[in-house]
Amino acid sequence: MEFEDGFAAEKLFKQGYSYTYDDVIFLPGYIGFPVEQVDLSTKLTRNISLSIPCVSSPMDTVTESAMARAMASVGGIGIIHSNSSPSVQAAHVRDAKSHKLPVFCAPPIFYSLSDRVCSLSEFSSSPCILVTTSGDSEDQLVGYVTPARWNLMSAGERNLPLNSYMLNPPEVIPWDADLEKVTSYFEKTGAEIAVIKKDGVIVDVVGREDLENLKEYPRLAGQGSVGKDGQWLVGAAVGTREADKERVELLVKAGVNVIVLDSSQGNSLYQLDMVKYLKRTYPELDIIGGNVVTMSQAHNLIQAGVDGLRVGMGSGSICTTQEVCAVGRGQATAVYKVSSIASQYDVPVIADGGISNSGHIVKALSLGASSVMMGSFLAGSHEAPGSYEVQNGLRIKKYRGMGSLEAMTKGSDARYLGDKTKLKIAQGVVGAVADKGSVLKFLPYTMQAVKQGFQDLGYQSMKDAHDSLSTTLRLEVRTGAAQIEGGVHGLISYEKKSF
Ligand code: 5GP
Repeated sequence: MEFEDGFAAEKLFKQGYSYTYDDVIFLPGYIGFPVEQVDLSTKLTRNISLSIPCVSSPMDTVTESAMARAMASVGGIGIIHSNSSPSVQAAHVRDAKSHKLPVFCAPPIFYSLSDRVCSLSEFSSSPCILVTTSGDSEDQLVGYVTPARWNLMSAGERNLPLNSYMLNPPEVIPWDADLEKVTSYFEKTGAEIAVIKKDGVIVDVVGREDLENLKEYPRLAGQGSVGKDGQWLVGAAVGTREADKERVELLVKAGVNVIVLDSSQGNSLYQLDMVKYLKRTYPELDIIGGNVVTMSQAHNLIQAGVDGLRVGMGSGSICTTQEVCAVGRGQATAVYKVSSIASQYDVPVIADGGISNSGHIVKALSLGASSVMMGSFLAGSHEAPGSYEVQNGLRIKKYRGMGSLEAMTKGSDARYLGDKTKLKIAQGVVGAVADKGSVLKFLPYTMQAVKQGFQDLGYQSMKDAHDSLSTTLRLEVRTGAAQIEGGVHGLISYEKKSF
């Protein structure tokens, strides 16, 4: 029997209010299957599939090669930021694609035969120092020394060059060995370290302990994202200036799988021209346009030929666009409205910004998005660029808006239509986020929470979620009091631990 209870999305979103994720709440559906049967696999663009709906944002405090590797290894994708020279950006793409293991240890350190190790800190957090004939990563590997071994040596021994106490080099493992292969190598050989090479170059060194630690992590959320080239899927952001055409050329040579046109207001002459140019020049390359928040902005980009749309204006945690420019839209409304037009053309939508918990992801996907793009949610992870600092007793990492004065001074002003010769107006801030541990650990937990949300709504798949949007889904706006009631309340103190 049908009851009149709650609002259909179409009715709710045409009342003239700009709703954020927290403003709305969904009415539960019917659970007829176990949570294990929920499948979060999805499309990033017309031609690229992912096994989890997660994308890391092209920001210089979020996505470089380590994040791109980690995101791909759990079934999502990372988009390398463009706040660097084209060759540095292309090097990040190449680096992320030349590994098959997610990052869980520091990059390899190379010394020559005649070098000496003077302190334990020289090992950084790498499982060993590798010794090559002249200290170059491309030279022949002739030995290694671990911090544990070095620590046990006398002061006299430590004074000797490495060739007098290094151990013989271990067997080399090919770059495309997955975790299982590396695990069985350790079991079979009893070795302390594994050295991984691609095209004759050492790209990784893995300690037995690193691997043991990784086993403590939950099973990876989905299958890794591998492209037709057999390597991780990696995306990169570019601007819409003439010089960006050369940047794309370098990125394509590095094997980039998808290009994101990075603009805070994507409905521009510049972006439409760039989309057409890229589709003409690289017909095989998928292009994501944006950002957009209205149906008409989205329609223009779809007509120009984009393969995916990035949605959000002013919803990012570090963003001040709505304050500075008076434009934007509440993210729940923006995702619903843009998805309602994009779905007619089979163009997947990426809900970008404003994700601070798993519930926001459930909401974005249920309102029509096929994936979510995250900045602050990932910026405190081990895999984000930068090192941890301590602030008021808390381990933090820096997180900054790409439209902050600090980032724009480094070069990202193209996204905000700024120019080096003109006055700069910030549309973002510089801040910090708390240490969250590894993406490899917290994203699988987050995906499990999203699956539970889907189960409560009665969705087994992304298709179920999107089909329900125009049929059975019912939602309501939460009053201020309802939002307070929906959070933890009425306690003197509590500890919030999600997993
Ligand atoms: P978050 O996940 O932290 O809420 O938002 C990340 C998103 O905010 C990015 O993917 C990007 O779309 C947007 N963004 C990044 N930097 C800035 C900025 O400085 N200003 C504005 N307006 N948006 C930003």
